[in-house]
Formats: sequence, C-alpha cells, structure tokens
Amino acid sequence: MMNKLKTGTDRGLLLVLSGPSGVGKGTICTALRQKSPHLVYSVSATTRSPRQGEADGVNYFFKSRDQFESMIQNNDLLEWAEYVGNYYGTPRSFVEETLAQGRDIILEIEVQGALKVKQSFPEGVFIFIMPPSLEELRQRIENRGTESLESISQRLSVAREEISLLAHYDYAVVNDEVSLACERIQAIITAEHCKQERIYPTLLHGLEEVK
Ligand code: 5GP
Repeated sequence: MMNKLKTGTDRGLLLVLSGPSGVGKGTICTALRQKSPHLVYSVSATTRSPRQGEADGVNYFFKSRDQFESMIQNNDLLEWAEYVGNYYGTPRSFVEETLAQGRDIILEIEVQGALKVKQSFPEGVFIFIMPPSLEELRQRIENRGTESLESISQRLSVAREEISLLAHYDYAVVNDEVSLACERIQAIITAEHCKQERIYPTLLHGLEEVK
C-alpha cells in the first residue's frame, strides 16, 4: 500500500515577531488569529501595569518585580529583557511543549529578547514589522492614547535603536495595511514550511517506505 508522504507541515515553527512599539504587532496578531486559527501565541510575563481592557493570562501574565525575578532565577523564562523600565519575558515550558506537539508558535517580543531566542533557536523564523515611517509611528502611539509624553518619546528613541537591528531578522514586513501585512506573514509561514531542509528528512523517510 502506498503511504502518504509526510510534509513539512508536520513540524512546528518558532516564529518571532518584533517591531517598534505602536507599529501594530498586536493588531496584526489579532487579525492573524482569525485568518490562521492553527497558530499558537505565547503569552509573556511582564511587570508593567495592565492597560484598560487587558486581562491577566490573556494579554500578559502580570507579575511583581519580585515574582519576575524568581522566574528568572528558576530558569522559567526562555528569554527576558528590560524595556522602558519594565521586565518582559517568555515562559519557557509553554513554547517547548507547543513545539514538541508540532504546532507553530508566535512570540511577539522586542529585539533584545529576539536576539537571545536566536542563540538558543537559530532555526526560528525572525520577522521584523516595520512602520511605513517614524512619523507614522509617532502618530500611531499618540492615537493609542495609552502612553505619557515621556513614554512616547522613550518608545520612539527605542524604536530607532530597534530598527537599526533589522539585519538580524530573516524578513521585514511593512505594516502599511494590516490585511496586507497579514498576507505577507502567512506567505512567509507557507514558504518556511516548504523549505527543503525542513521537509527533507520526513520526505526521504516517506520515500523509503514507498514500495
Ligand atoms: P507593551 O508594553 O507595548 O505591551 O510591550 C512593549 C514591548 O515589549 C513590545 O515591543 C513587545 O513586543 C515586547 N514584549 C512583549 N512581551 C515580551 C517578552 O516576553 N519578551 C520580550 N523580550 N519582549 C516582549
């Protein structure tokens, strides 16, 4: 009997999505959730206070500095970074379990953390979301109305530094329009699943079984 060849889609991808504050990563992820419901999202831990409408365990796991520092000590975090005065980090076990199940997982994290993930998961797919311009970025952060003037200017200066690290990423996606940015990310995910080095071992195994 002929066996069905296994494809690269049997293996999970670790997708790292970065980009400056206000670029629209959250909106893109919400749209992607609807278009690609099979994607899993990592929920980060943070010491920042919840914004209006944010819920513990959904948007973030909200922690005190002491709690966060214990997570660091216990090696519970895959990566962590300090960003505009607060800690942010990715709980390790959820990511490892999801990948072990062969499911694609998205980490929406800033660049210092992404570079740490790259050291432990060089096979990850690193995507940087770009604003159409820095002026557009300022407008978006101001329009969000969640940040103080000081935080806006801090976030813009961090944004400049973050954009300078673009070369460490595999892909740059301009968020000129959310639906277009989503389509580009979906295309990247499809292409990554088709990479010969990802599918070669399973494909070869399948061919050997065909008599
Ligand atoms: P915000 O305060 O706007 O929710 O997030 C600020 C920045 O922290 C964003 O760039 C976001 O991508 C990043 N961030 C969120 N979670 C994590 C995380 O677990 N690790 C790291 N390194 N950055 C994170």
